[in-house]
Amino acid sequence: MNRPAERFEVAVVGGGMVGATLALILARAGIRTVLLEERPPLREWPENTVDIRVSALTRASRIILDTLGAWAGIMERGAGPYRYMRVWDPACGGELYFDGADVGQDILGFIVENRVSVAALWSILEGLRDVSVVCPARVAGIHPVAGGSELLLDKGQTIFAELVVAADGAHSALRSMAAIEVKGWSYAQTALVATVETQTAHHETAYQRFLAEGPLAFLPLRNGMSSIVWTSSSQTTQRYLELPERTFVNELEVASGGILGSLALVSKRASFPLRLQYARSYFRGNVVLVGDAAHSVHPLAGQGANMGILDAAALAESVIAARDLSRPIAGFHTLRRYERWRKGDNLAMLMGMDGLHRLFVRPPPGFGFLRSLGMNLINRSDPIKNFFNRYAMGLRADLPRLAYGQKCW
Ligand SMILES: Cc1cc2nc3c(=O)[nH]c(=O)nc-3n(C[C@H](O)[C@H](O)[C@H](O)COP(=O)(O)OP(=O)(O)OC[C@H]3O[C@@H](n4cnc5c(N)ncnc54)[C@H](O)[C@@H]3O)c2cc1C
Repeated sequence: MNRPAERFEVAVVGGGMVGATLALILARAGIRTVLLEERPPLREWPENTVDIRVSALTRASRIILDTLGAWAGIMERGAGPYRYMRVWDPACGGELYFDGADVGQDILGFIVENRVSVAALWSILEGLRDVSVVCPARVAGIHPVAGGSELLLDKGQTIFAELVVAADGAHSALRSMAAIEVKGWSYAQTALVATVETQTAHHETAYQRFLAEGPLAFLPLRNGMSSIVWTSSSQTTQRYLELPERTFVNELEVASGGILGSLALVSKRASFPLRLQYARSYFRGNVVLVGDAAHSVHPLAGQGANMGILDAAALAESVIAARDLSRPIAGFHTLRRYERWRKGDNLAMLMGMDGLHRLFVRPPPGFGFLRSLGMNLINRSDPIKNFFNRYAMGLRADLPRLAYGQKCW
């Protein structure tokens, strides 16, 4: 005889940065939640090692994580602030320089290893009463039943939830199962990531140098090293991946323009093909999308995870408000409120990054000079520069309450 499905108000599928943030907010609000994750995350690692995947987290993300009680665990495990950002176009001499102090902040953000954020969130989640963490568990199917959906896990277990959240990344299986359409295109570009030691100290500065095929970023790590994100055509990146280490480092030094002196590779090289992708709708029935399942953005301004964390906070706030008003948490009004809140903001970011990509990587003929002129003009205009700076830091209107440090439960 089949065992009856265990019942929850919300099932969050995917325990990456976004799903784990959402599950934590819901649990803090006393909403009975299950977090389903296919791959057990790392909890500990040898000292002095660095995750090859890092994210620049904005002020808004930090405040959300802090209000949830997760930021202390991130700092304990280690995160490095960046105070300055230099973006330049060596071909035509354009340059932008950002300093947190210009917008009244001591820092622009933090560079956090992805494994650090996830471990900090999971360590809290696993001690909370209102959330069950089921891992490893892959959601293999979903079907509607009265009052919600049943999720079929790969090991045969069944879970019932009123609301199902797809936080399962850019290739979201849940999104396909719910038949939510996605639009987008490949950039025919691949980002190469690695960790390097640099001869010159980074001075808590994030560098981004725009090259003919795409940007090369150096993100300052807490231990003095830097994480690189080097975007090129997929063909060129494949060549960089296959080069012997010494030759690769030589090419990287040339591409960096010597900004951090000589370099030494201290990790393997990994690569991520880049796409712009967005879901036509953020929900269908009682299945709702957050994070990369809803949108994938070019990483040139380091916004993907930050957008997802805002999604998590906005969806949780909408669900908690519905619960408090005794309205259905998976009802049309609840999910539409979330969609209206986040979709426009996310699309604006997606298109903004796409525009920047086109401006730098595929400019119309003769446009390089104008582009650099524009960069230099913006650099000299405090109001315009500060507008971009504040936007990128997540300092804007209409954010979820958690982003202002206010609890939403
Ligand atoms: C090179 C590069 C650099 C980047 N830099 C930045 C940056 O500086 N700042 C920033 O904000 N963003 C950055 N991003 C984007 C950021 O990494 C992503 O936006 C973010 O990790 C998305 O988080 P997520 O939780 O939505 O998805 P994911 O991290 O993909 O997590 C999805 C989770 O779902 C699980 N899962 C999948 N399918 C199932 C299933 N069927 N059942 C159960 N579990 C499942 C997976 O195991 C995974 O743990 C960068 C991206 C790239 C490629």
